[in-house]
Amino acid sequence: MSAAESHILPVYSPPEQNFVRGEGCWIWDDKGDKYLDCIAGISVNALGHAPPVLVKALTEQAGKLWHTSNMFKVKGQEELAAKYTRDNFADVVFFTNSGTEAIEGSLKTARKYHTANGQPERVDIIGFQGSFHGRSYAAINASGNPSYLEGFGPKLPGYIQAPFGDLEELKKLVGPTTAAVIIEPVQGEGGVRAVTDEFLRGLRKLADETGFLIIFDEVQSGAGRTGKMWAHQWSGVTPDIMAVAKGVGGGFPMGAFMATKEAAKGMVVGVHGTTFGGNPLAMAVGNACYDELSKPEFLERVNVVANHLTQALESLKDRHPDLVVDIRGKGLLRGVKLTLNPKDIQGKLRARKVLVGVAGDNVLRLAPPLIITEEEIRQVVDAIDAVLTEQAVQAGA
Ligand SMILES: *Cc1c(COP(=O)(O)O)cnc(C)c1O
Repeated sequence: MSAAESHILPVYSPPEQNFVRGEGCWIWDDKGDKYLDCIAGISVNALGHAPPVLVKALTEQAGKLWHTSNMFKVKGQEELAAKYTRDNFADVVFFTNSGTEAIEGSLKTARKYHTANGQPERVDIIGFQGSFHGRSYAAINASGNPSYLEGFGPKLPGYIQAPFGDLEELKKLVGPTTAAVIIEPVQGEGGVRAVTDEFLRGLRKLADETGFLIIFDEVQSGAGRTGKMWAHQWSGVTPDIMAVAKGVGGGFPMGAFMATKEAAKGMVVGVHGTTFGGNPLAMAVGNACYDELSKPEFLERVNVVANHLTQALESLKDRHPDLVVDIRGKGLLRGVKLTLNPKDIQGKLRARKVLVGVAGDNVLRLAPPLIITEEEIRQVVDAIDAVLTEQAVQAGA
């Protein structure tokens, strides 16, 4: 079918391939061609494609009970919330269907906290330039990116943007009406930029001094992606509220927001809800996925392959100093900042049967399944090397 005949709302422009099957880090199209997947549905398929442990959890649950809504207790929610809160800063968890809903719930929790605290005037949300938090009205306003906002009516009041990673500039924007600061410990869409530990420590100090809450958006950076379960754990700084999604379901659509008991104190019976969030299917997969990710040897291995990837990308940069400006990100969420258009390079890699992503700021984005091997990493980096060499030869000719 040609693009003109498609009945899909044309907000994406996907390439021609129709992918029909996946296994580990590999996916096959309907012609039988095999591709090495180094983007994993945008940092989602943490355990690879069709991992047996998740297939088992999903199909077993599918034969028992799919959905009851949150009118009734869902046992899998209790189990998964207990695991998350056992291992991180949070005391309470709310399950969602997506990252955007996790962000929406996080922002609502922050504002409600201040109301419950007798400071209803504290409504302002400070986000960062280059951030991405999803596509709902709250999310696009928190990000402030003009290309997401334009044509969708007035910018909502109560959202402010600060320059990325600049504590002094942030201090100037914080005031008596500040409710929360929302930040991705590693910006995904914005160009795979990791904020420094020093910035996060300064942010925590500022929050404690002035009474605003910190929301970490770990939708992309979480679920083991950077070599710790949550990227902020590298810094030792904890948030008050955190939004997660993408990798936590390993490919099943689910997310969550979680908070300390104190930060969640405004979220009482009736103030928030969801029909599908945390349903038994999602919880069966979410539990099985977290059990895998939280095995100590799992993240140990992620760190070993991530170091291997870092070295391979650094030597790529050394070989192509005119084309590769910077290697960014953390763990298995990496950006290669190019002097060339990353979309062209992405297309050329696809022709070589390697799938990668792009991000803002001229960045080629790598976010493979966390189970990727050193050999597969070598294949990806070799393919990038070959494409860049081709470009250099053409430019020289
Ligand atoms: C993808 C993403 C979101 C939105 O998640 P959806 O599941 O697409 O709604 C929010 N924040 C970050 C950092 C993301 O990468």
